[in-house]
Amino acid sequence: MRMWLVDPAGMCRQHLLGEHVELHMLVGTLERGKSIQGFLDGGLIDTSKIRDRHADLEIEMTLRGYKHKSPLSFVHDDPDGYVDVDGSLEDLHARCNECKQLFNAIQIPSDFDEGFGQTDDGLEHLKSLLGRFIS
Ligand SMILES: [Zn+2]
Ligand SMILES: [Zn+2]
Repeated sequence: MRMWLVDPAGMCRQHLLGEHVELHMLVGTLERGKSIQGFLDGGLIDTSKIRDRHADLEIEMTLRGYKHKSPLSFVHDDPDGYVDVDGSLEDLHARCNECKQLFNAIQIPSDFDEGFGQTDDGLEHLKSLLGRFIS
């Protein structure tokens, strides 16, 4: 079981659905009171993020038209674990070219931030744009 925790929009079908199924497996394991120490030690799981991560994956799956019939509102009583997301991204891209291509395709082009993120005015403008999507 592994929570990649990378941007779901940059994940191929296999890895997106795979992480989703593994989230449900993880919750099943926790609910049965079984140990996930090996996954925690391996830096593969952050149980504080289970519910939010499931919501993010569900949104991406819905956008792509995948069927989703498995609500998950689990909150771990005693959250534990840490995932290094940058390392996770490197690992994922090393093993899956499709994820890598998708991820690169959704990045903002490097020449985009001239006058955008570079100046205070640009930054404020960017924040106001993002504010429309973030409540
Ligand atoms: Zn689900
Ligand atoms: Zn992939």
